Amino acid sequence: MSLAEQMDTVTAAAAGTVDRHATTETFESTNPASGAVVGVFPLHDASAVQETVERARPAAQRWAELGYDGRRQRLSAYRGYLARRMHELADLVHRENGKPHADAILEIALAIDHLAWAGAHARRTLGPRRVRAGMLAANHAAYLEYQPLGAVGVIGPWNYPVFTPMGSIAYALAAGNAVVFKPSEYTPAVGAWLAAAWRAAVPDVADALQVVTGFGETGAALCRAGVGKLAFTGSAPTGRKVMAACAETLTPVLMELGGKDAMIVDDDADVAAAADAAVWGSMSNAGQTCIGIERVYATAPVYDRFVAEVTERVRGLRPGSDDEAAYGPMTMASQTDVVKRHLDDATSSGGRAVLGGTVDGGFPNADYIAPTVLLDVPESSSAVREETFGPTITITRVADAEEALERTNASSYGLAGAVFSRSRTRAMDLARRMRSGMTSVNSVLTFASIPALPFGGVGESGFGRIHGEDGLKEFTRAKAITRQRYALPVNLMSFTRPPAAADAVARVMGMVHGRHR
Ligand code: NAD
Repeated sequence: MSLAEQMDTVTAAAAGTVDRHATTETFESTNPASGAVVGVFPLHDASAVQETVERARPAAQRWAELGYDGRRQRLSAYRGYLARRMHELADLVHRENGKPHADAILEIALAIDHLAWAGAHARRTLGPRRVRAGMLAANHAAYLEYQPLGAVGVIGPWNYPVFTPMGSIAYALAAGNAVVFKPSEYTPAVGAWLAAAWRAAVPDVADALQVVTGFGETGAALCRAGVGKLAFTGSAPTGRKVMAACAETLTPVLMELGGKDAMIVDDDADVAAAADAAVWGSMSNAGQTCIGIERVYATAPVYDRFVAEVTERVRGLRPGSDDEAAYGPMTMASQTDVVKRHLDDATSSGGRAVLGGTVDGGFPNADYIAPTVLLDVPESSSAVREETFGPTITITRVADAEEALERTNASSYGLAGAVFSRSRTRAMDLARRMRSGMTSVNSVLTFASIPALPFGGVGESGFGRIHGEDGLKEFTRAKAITRQRYALPVNLMSFTRPPAAADAVARVMGMVHGRHR
């Protein structure tokens, strides 16, 4: 029986994929396209979460003791397991999240690549190294290493239920931590599948990755369970609650929050390429992408052509649940209300929808939102200021790229963004000055597929980084060690030092540093 088939039988005992503990209450996850039940999962309370974290602690010890080679070998076994079952997992993602199977495959491919990178780079990034001791401690050797935190908590969203949590899980594991993962209540089956896959691929340290399931209270219990760090990915309002709960136990946090990412299309841009990227960046995954493009600022010389190119492409998009559909239904029904509020605000404040603009535009199921292109929306509208998280895009005419940048940066969010320009110097300059954690030039979202690059935001988009060397270090504490190599005739940090020693130090500092003005 495949792991996904086991999910269908979880009613009784979660098919061994999720430990029920003493939990009697359960909740269902459903297919957003059909309403069919995908799985039934325990509603873990605080004591079940605590038990899971306590079980993770010795696992963290064993996992850490395996060392970089032992962990790398097991992380490879895990990615091999995932790679051999991509279609099975993609089918589950399709059923539970609603995205097309092909998009789920892409998402899983990214997660596997990150697992490979994290495993391969952990030793070089985190392992012991000697650093220069400097003038004042020249008789000492100085060492730096990055040690794991123990059992860490990961709380994930539903929009990329494999790739997003894996951005924390893979790097936390590679750094030597055990992980307790609380998937979104909208995608518990995918979370349970990932943990069951770990158990199957890495049976000797099976408890290094465990799952707890439930709603916000289960997540809040994980914040209070004494984990070494809590990596949260979700919305800014929930992020605030997570920080408040973690503050009670001084548990450090990593915050990967929402965004309102912009694309700048400059005078000299390849307009067709920019339009193609804008449509993918805004509409794929039904716009439910934290780094999705929600706003475009196109300069006056290219604006009309850009709008025409976008409109033509968007006209060809059809949402649905079949293999040919461009994107699926809204995963979370309540998000439809947010999208509707933004569309209403955009059109009532002077904007106009050249395509779409309704949340029930003739599709058989109300949870499919018509692909929507909005023009002339004032910057004060919620459609421009707040995260919409639907298949919509606003396009605004600006005088030049400087105005585009100014508007882009006038946001409380700062996750990512894109610049389209044929001038490398100009594009790189705009990218650097964009107030965001990541920017792609002449493409969208590319940074997420490069494991060596850190991923994270500024402002309301959060802080801390997953992916890359920064992502590995995020799940560690720096440990500094000095070792005296030989004793100096005069020990400055001793009550036996001669009275003249301080003068001698002052003279040397004057000679070495005093000439700098
Ligand atoms: P959400 O904030 O509603 O929920 C996220 C997770 O937090 C869920 O698992 C939920 O059960 C849990 N949770 C809810 N209340 C909690 C509480 N009080 N304490 C602890 N945990 C609690 O977000 P969502 O709707 O699942 O995801 C969409 C959001 O995630 C969007 O804003 C999107 O931009 C963001 N996101 C960000 C990134 C990133 O890397 N920056 C990636 C993907 C999604």
